[in-house]
Amino acid sequence: MAKIFCVANQKGGVGKTTTTVNLAAGLAKIGQRVLMIDLDPQGNATMGSGVDKRQLELTIYDVLLENATITEARVKSDKLITAGCSYDVLGANRELAGAEVELVDVERRERRIKTAIAAVESEYDFVLIDCPPSLSMLTLNGLCCANGVIVPMQCEYFALEGLTDLVNTIKQVHANLNPDLQIIGLLRVMFDPRITLQQQVSEQLKNHFGNKVFNTVIPRNVRLAEAPSYGLPGVVFDPSARGSIAFVEFANEMVERIKTM
Ligand code: ATP
Ligand code: MG
Repeated sequence: MAKIFCVANQKGGVGKTTTTVNLAAGLAKIGQRVLMIDLDPQGNATMGSGVDKRQLELTIYDVLLENATITEARVKSDKLITAGCSYDVLGANRELAGAEVELVDVERRERRIKTAIAAVESEYDFVLIDCPPSLSMLTLNGLCCANGVIVPMQCEYFALEGLTDLVNTIKQVHANLNPDLQIIGLLRVMFDPRITLQQQVSEQLKNHFGNKVFNTVIPRNVRLAEAPSYGLPGVVFDPSARGSIAFVEFANEMVERIKTM
């Protein structure tokens, strides 16, 4: 059965999408079967996986409204198939922004993705969900179906403060909606070891959260930032870049981690 992970942090631009697509590609590279779900109307994870969000006939929006199943709506990117590093994509585009409103009066709305995933769960080892930068209905939907949350964060001054809201939301979902849910780990991203403050915050994180901090650290690496404009995860765009190597290392760490879950 697949393990389901949300990549979440309500802060914008912290590296959620970069983490989702590169972890997906890294896992695919080491032979894991992966479904990547884009739960953000920005559709960045869709585009970053080589799938044109404007051309999609069915998206996560249709799955949420129960107009389509995941089997019908998922796609593969030709580029990723060619690269031998392929994973399935359940894409998103601007349409998804409307789901928030349309689902207001729907019963069990926070469970819809869970129900949809249940039908395909046996086909995957990992389901990765890229969440939007908010603690909205969409993020809640993601958290309700996940076994765990991966929290990418930059080692900056306000990093710990920003975590409080997320940790509280996760606690509430755990208590009321999804007893499976736990923080799997904090992933230090865009890390620059030359900056003393980042080293200090990194140490603080380890002191506060202990083994909830992943061993892998993702460096700041321009190749990871360039890759989306080619519609590719960094891991595929430039496998030898430091950031790509770190994401494959992270994929291996995740494979080890789920053995203990
Ligand atoms: P949003 O909250 O808007 O969804 P996000 O949390 O998904 O943003 P990303 O889109 O992954 O964040 O990253 C924000 C920006 O930082 C992007 O331009 C991305 O290319 C860049 N970036 C992410 N990780 C790295 C890295 N390790 N090194 C260099 N640039 C990075
Ligand atoms: Mg994003």
